[in-house]
Amino acid sequence: MKQSFYGGVHPHDRKEATNRLAVVPLSTAPKQVVIPMAMHVGAPCKPLVSPGDTVRVGQKIAEIAGLGAPIHASVSGTVAAVEPRPYTGGGKVLSVVIDNDFRNTPGSSLTPHADPLALSPEEIVEIVKEAGITGMGGAGFPTHVKISSGLGKVDTMILNGAECEPYITADHRLMLEQGEKVIGGARILMKALGLQTGWIGIEANKMDAVDHLKSLVGDKADITVEPLKTRYPQGAEKQLIQRITGREIPPGGLPAHVGCAVFNVGTAAAVYDAVVEGRPLTERIVTVTGDSIANPKNLLVPLGTSFQHLIDEAGGFKADPDRVLTGGPMMGIAQYNLAVPVIKGTNAVLCLTPQEAAPEDKAHTCLRCARCVNVCPMHLTPVYMHLYAEKNRWSEVEDLRVMDCIECGSCNYICPARIPLVQSFRTAKFEIRGLAAKQKAKEAAKA
Ligand code: SF4
Ligand code: SF4
Repeated sequence: MKQSFYGGVHPHDRKEATNRLAVVPLSTAPKQVVIPMAMHVGAPCKPLVSPGDTVRVGQKIAEIAGLGAPIHASVSGTVAAVEPRPYTGGGKVLSVVIDNDFRNTPGSSLTPHADPLALSPEEIVEIVKEAGITGMGGAGFPTHVKISSGLGKVDTMILNGAECEPYITADHRLMLEQGEKVIGGARILMKALGLQTGWIGIEANKMDAVDHLKSLVGDKADITVEPLKTRYPQGAEKQLIQRITGREIPPGGLPAHVGCAVFNVGTAAAVYDAVVEGRPLTERIVTVTGDSIANPKNLLVPLGTSFQHLIDEAGGFKADPDRVLTGGPMMGIAQYNLAVPVIKGTNAVLCLTPQEAAPEDKAHTCLRCARCVNVCPMHLTPVYMHLYAEKNRWSEVEDLRVMDCIECGSCNYICPARIPLVQSFRTAKFEIRGLAAKQKAKEAAKA
C-alpha cells in the first residue's frame, strides 16, 4: 500500500536556472586531476600507482582494502604525486594526482556485453565491483555490496530519481538525456537481484522525465515509473520506500530489512556503462549553480577535477558567494578550499549569495515552538536532542535516537530561531561513535 511519509518541508526548488540546460562536457579539460582514495563508505583504497607512472583513462589505480570500490584514472597522463590532499569530506585524504596529457588514451580492462541480461547475477556483481561503482546520489555505498547483500532477501528494487534537494538538476538531465541507460541499468540491476519488476520514483516537478522514462519502458511494463509529490525529503531512502511500498524501516534498520534495495538513477546509468559499454566509473554529471554563479550549468566532469575549474567553466562568480557547498542547500557540506575535487558522489557545486544563504550566524534562543518536531520525517524530537547535545549529554541524545537522524535538514529549514540543529546532531553522532569505539577497545583489551 502506498503511503506518504510523515513530516517534511516545502522549500522553493530553485531548479529553474539549470533544469532546461543540457549536460555539456568541459570546454577545457583539467590540467591535473586529484583523485581521493576515500570516495565511498568503508575503508580508503590502496593506490596501485606511484609517481612517474603513466596511466590511461579507465585504468584501475587503486584497489579496495576492506569495504569499498576500486578507483580508476579519469584522464590519461602521468602520476605526479600520491599524497594527502584536501577533499570535500574535510581535512586531507591520500590522493593520486595525475597530470593530464590531453590524449584521452583509453585503458579500461572491462569487457563490453551486448546482451547484459544473459549474464548471471554473480557476473553482474563482479563487473559492477570492478567498475568501481558506488551510490551516485551522494551516500557512496559500494553498489556491488548492496546487490550481493540483497540477493535472495530483496523483493523490490526502486530507482531513486526524486532529486528533492533544491537547485540540483544532475539526475533530472540524466533521465531526460540518457534515459535508455537508466532503464537499461535498472533491468540489469533487477536481473542481478533476481527480480522481474522494479520501480522508479521521480518528484512531480520533473514530469517530463516521468513521461520520457514511461515511454522508454514501453509495453514491457516491467518497470513502474511513479510520480511523487514534491515534498522534501522525498528522495531519502526510508521515505521513498515508505511512499512506494508502504513499508516502514524500523529504527536502526536498513532497506534490506523490509525487502527493498534502492539505487540512484545515476548509479543505474553507471551500471549500464560498465556492463554494456565496458566503462568503469570515471566521470559524472555535476550541477554548478547558485546566484553567485555567472552561467549555471550541468557539466559532465572527469572525477578529480577541482571545484575551482568547474566554477570557471560556469563563468566564475558574478557576486561574492556567502558559501560554497558540495550538494544542495539542505544536506550540502560547506567547502573552504576550492581546490577540492569532484568525487563519485558529487552531484552539485552550489555557490550561494548572502541573500540565498540562511543566516547561520544569527542563532537565537529556542522558542519551544515544536515546528522542528512536526517536520521531522524520522519522528525525532530535534529540540530536545539539541538541548542535550549543547550540554554534551551524549547518552541522553542517543536515547532520543539521534543515530536515526538522516541529516535531512528539514528541522534547520523550519526553525524560526535559526538554530543550527543538524550541525549539533552531526557532532553528537561523531561523539557517540567515538565513545562506542573506545568502549569496544576497552572491552577487547580486558578480554
Ligand atoms: S532531526 Fe534529523 S531527520 Fe529529523 S528533521 Fe532534523 S535533520 Fe531531518
Ligand atoms: S523549531 Fe527551533 S525554535 Fe522551534 S522548538 Fe525547534 S529548535 Fe526550538
